[in-house]
Amino acid sequence: MRSEIIAVGTELLLGQISNTNAQWISSRLADLGIPVYHHTVVGDNLERVSATFNQAQERSDVVIVTGGLGPTEDDLTREGGKVVFGQELVEHKETMEKIQRYFDQNQKRMSENNRKQALVFKDADVLENSEGMAPGQIYHHNRVLWIFLPGVPTEMKHLVNNHVIPYIRSNFQLGSQIVSEMMHFIGIGESDLETKLHSFITSQTNPTIAPLASEGEVGLRLTATGDTTDEARQKIKDLKHQLLEYVGDFYYGSDSITIEETVSDLLKEKELTIGSAESFTGGKFLERMVSLPGASSICKGGCMVYTAEMKENILHVPKSLINEYGTISYECAEVMALKSKELLDVDIAVSFTGVAGPSSSEGQPPGTVFIGLQIGEKKTEVYKYHFHGGRDQVRIRAVKKAYEILFH
Ligand code: ATP
Ligand code: MG
Repeated sequence: MRSEIIAVGTELLLGQISNTNAQWISSRLADLGIPVYHHTVVGDNLERVSATFNQAQERSDVVIVTGGLGPTEDDLTREGGKVVFGQELVEHKETMEKIQRYFDQNQKRMSENNRKQALVFKDADVLENSEGMAPGQIYHHNRVLWIFLPGVPTEMKHLVNNHVIPYIRSNFQLGSQIVSEMMHFIGIGESDLETKLHSFITSQTNPTIAPLASEGEVGLRLTATGDTTDEARQKIKDLKHQLLEYVGDFYYGSDSITIEETVSDLLKEKELTIGSAESFTGGKFLERMVSLPGASSICKGGCMVYTAEMKENILHVPKSLINEYGTISYECAEVMALKSKELLDVDIAVSFTGVAGPSSSEGQPPGTVFIGLQIGEKKTEVYKYHFHGGRDQVRIRAVKKAYEILFH
């Protein structure tokens, strides 16, 4: 089954609002295991709305349209459907009464264009909209199921939850049970992951695979349907097993687990303690680990050394080193890691020094980051990065990167 979502509204094309309706509907359809093939946004123009509907009629089995059902001239969804379906619009009695009641109760005179909101396709199933005026509609045209919903998000969501999902569930042979799992990957970009899994992603229909990039990591949502939960679960397990043969090195866990949780578990398993020396991250690295219950068995503490002076006074980074290389350097990160390991008496120390931005520092552009890693008596390792984004993003990415290094 192929589905698509069409959002109607020039305000979307102008960038005044974002198409959150399509995003929300997509995630609901993903929960049902229905693949969404297209999101389209079309402005309030009859010719383009009908052309978009014609295209959807040709290529999809289920088409969900949001917006353009209001009373004004520029609400053209009904007219677009009329062109494509060749079906007349009829007044829906209950809706008309509801509109009339609304105007009576508010002692307002109803203008003629308000009648438009009560127009529905002849033979459509009308979905009562208790959150607003214009009802939703379910309409069949040449084997394609069309679902028309108002643009206002609260109204749209109400109709989807209370009418559309129950309708789809009872009219389509969806496996009655749905199970999904979010797999988390780190140390691989979204495009690399997709390239490696290309054949799976394009051919897979049950489970479906939906990639999702977030800050510094990538997710894959697997959704399976089956007659029983066990059957759906087994399908996910089998596919996961195959995927891990290709990208297992980057997989750190599923569902609600985070990278700091995974790293913490690894440290606990190996009975290792950890501490940090943090400059521009301001303690963020340690904070994420300390926020997990049971952190005290692995987390000993850290040094927040923001200025050059603090790096000198607390961690004994030599003044001569700072004068020669600066604080944003391999050399400084190296000494910070080494000295904090001694001071904190931990097995592993991680150091952070860099420029979060927005302006440059010590001649280094914003986003320049050095992460030092001291593991036991091994030689200190220092990694250099250039992260894009604003101050917060650079700080978050640096912390995430450190967890990625520790994980690998
Ligand atoms: P109305 O009766 O309010 O005119 P409508 O069905 O005609 O409803 P629109 O006029 O297209 O819907 O949109 C109403 C409001 O809903 C928009 O101003 C916008 O705030 C919101 N909206 C519309 N489409 C979307 C969308 N795709 N994503 C998020 N919000 C949307
Ligand atoms: Mg409108």
